[in-house]
Amino acid sequence: MHESCGVFGVYAPGEDVARLTFFALFALQHRGQESAGIATTDGSKLQVYANMGLVSQVFNEDSLSQLSGDIAIGHNRYSTRGSSRLTNAQPIVVGKGSNSIAIAHNGNIVNAEHLYEELSDQGYTFRTTTDTEVIANLILSSHEKNWVDRIRYAMHRLQGAYSVTLMTNHTLFAVRGSLGVRPLCLGTIDGGWVIASESCALDHIGANFVREIEPGEIVAITENGVDSYQEKVGKRALCIFEYIYFARPDSVINGRLLYPARQAMGEGLAQEHQVDADLVMGVPDSATAAGIGYSRYSGLPLAEGLLKNRYVGRTFIEPDQRIRDLGVKLKFNPLPQMLDGKRVVVVDDSIVRGTTTPQVVRLLKRAGAKEVHMRICAPPIRYPCFFGVDMATRWELIAAQKTIPEVRDFIGADSLGYLSIDGLIKAVALPKDIFCLACFTGDYPIPVQLEMDKLALETMAASQQPPSDVKEQ
Ligand code: SF4
Repeated sequence: MHESCGVFGVYAPGEDVARLTFFALFALQHRGQESAGIATTDGSKLQVYANMGLVSQVFNEDSLSQLSGDIAIGHNRYSTRGSSRLTNAQPIVVGKGSNSIAIAHNGNIVNAEHLYEELSDQGYTFRTTTDTEVIANLILSSHEKNWVDRIRYAMHRLQGAYSVTLMTNHTLFAVRGSLGVRPLCLGTIDGGWVIASESCALDHIGANFVREIEPGEIVAITENGVDSYQEKVGKRALCIFEYIYFARPDSVINGRLLYPARQAMGEGLAQEHQVDADLVMGVPDSATAAGIGYSRYSGLPLAEGLLKNRYVGRTFIEPDQRIRDLGVKLKFNPLPQMLDGKRVVVVDDSIVRGTTTPQVVRLLKRAGAKEVHMRICAPPIRYPCFFGVDMATRWELIAAQKTIPEVRDFIGADSLGYLSIDGLIKAVALPKDIFCLACFTGDYPIPVQLEMDKLALETMAASQQPPSDVKEQ
C-alpha cells in the first residue's frame, strides 16, 4: 500500500533554500520514491528541476547549485492519478510571467476529471496528467485580484484531499484542504519559515516545529512574516493510516508522536487477541513499535525473527523473473535460531490484497516457527480509498471478499486478529470524529458514489465477471 507524496516549502532569504529542501525531501523519502523535484525563485523567475528516482539519485551538487533564490518548494512523488513518468514529476510550474506559480501536491482530487473538462473548455491546456495541474489551472482561472482569494476560489471548487506547497515569485503558500486528509505543518528556521508534510523533515534540517496547518487554512509567507486565512470547514477526515503506517514514527501529527501511538496499537491487539505463544515480533519497520507494545502488554518476550533489507526497492534496476519469484525473501530474511520450534505472534500494520502476508507466514514456518499468530494494527480493509492511497479495488481487497477465518486460512496463519476500530482510536488517543475511517466502514467523508460506480464498471469490464477468489501473486 502506498501513499501519495511528500511536500516541502521554505522561505529563508540568505539561506541555501535548494539544499535545505533537498535534505527535507530526503527525510520525507518514505512518502514517495518515484520522482523528486525542487523549484526555487529569486524574485524574478521560477525555476524547477525534477527527475525520476530517489532524492539522492535525482540531485547532485551541480543541479542544486543552479537552483538559487530565497524561496523553494519540493516534492517526492508516488503516483495515484497520472502515470509515473517525467512530465508528471513535481513541482510543476504553470502560467506565464508574473501570473505563474510553482506547485507541489500531496493527495487526490476526487472531482479532478470534471474540473479538467471545465478548464479545457475554457482554453486551459495541460502538460501533465496529474490533478496537481488541475489545482494550478483552477487557481489561475480565478478572476480574483490577489493570490489568497484566487486560492480560496480553487478551494471552494476542489473536492478531496490536498496538502499543497505553492509559490509565486514573492510568496510561499501552504494550503490544506478542508477535510485535512493529509498532514501539513509549519516551522521556523534561522529567521525563515518552513512547511512540511511531516515534522520529521523539520527535525532533520534543524528547524523548529511551530504548529500544524489547520484543515481549510491558507498560510502565506512573505518578507512581512506569516499570514493565515481560515476557510470554513465541515467534516474532518484525517487519514488514520498516517498513524498506522504512512508517516514516520518520529513525526508528530495533531500533537501525537506516532511511535507511542503505534506501541499502543500493539497493546490494544494484545488486549483484544490474546494467545498462548513463546515470543512476539513486529514486521520491520512499520510494525516494530506495535510489536513492542504487544510484548509489553502480554508479557511475551520480544524477538527479532525477520531482518529487513532496508534498501530493497531503492534501485531502478529491474529484477529478473527469478529474483521476482523470491517475493518477500528479497525484503526479509528470517532468523531460524530465534524461530525454531517457537509459537510466534507476528504483528503487522495491515493486510490489503493478502499477497504479502502468506509469504511472510510461509517464510517464518520454513524457518522453523511451530505456530504463527498474525495480529494486524488496521481493522479489516473492505472499501477502496479515493483520497490518494493506492489500495486496490473492492474485488482485490481480501477482507471484502472473505470472512476473517477465511483470510486466516488463506494466509496460512494459526490465528488472525485485527485491531478493532475502537481499539485503534483508543491507541491514537484523539477524537474519532477527526478521522477518515472509510476504508474500514465505507462511510466516506464526501460523496464518492460516482467514483465508486466508475471503478466498479472498470473492474467488471477488465475482468468480465467478478473473480471468485483473490489469487496470491
Ligand atoms: S479511505 Fe482509508 S486510506 Fe483512504 S484516506 Fe480514508 S482512512 Fe486513509
